[in-house]
Amino acid sequence: MTKLSRRAFLERAALLGAAAVAGPALLAACNSGGDEGGGGGGGLDCTDTSGLTPQEAQMRTSLNYVDASTTAGQTCENCTLYTAANAGECGGCTVIQGPINPNGWCSSWAAAT
Ligand code: SF4
Repeated sequence: MTKLSRRAFLERAALLGAAAVAGPALLAACNSGGDEGGGGGGGLDCTDTSGLTPQEAQMRTSLNYVDASTTAGQTCENCTLYTAANAGECGGCTVIQGPINPNGWCSSWAAAT
């Protein structure tokens, strides 16, 4: 077993304290970033497809819709096919039925003009 100097002990204790403070904040930041299709685009969950027909739900899958875009510079919010809703609410799309996350994306994305 190695002996820690008082200085080393205090430095490690300070690091542990900083990690304890920063850890939850970092985790919260990660959780708000985005998970594909699982609700995550800015904390808004637009993945409820329970009101859709099987064909409508299949269209979302076929066009690779995700609730949080991973394509740089392309989100539903800047897609010409996006139908905006009130701030903090899911929008719509002229191609895909059901709730659409402004931070989402699908393979039919087209730049808004
Ligand atoms: Fe979003 Fe795709 Fe609809 Fe554009 S076409 S608004 S990228 S779901």
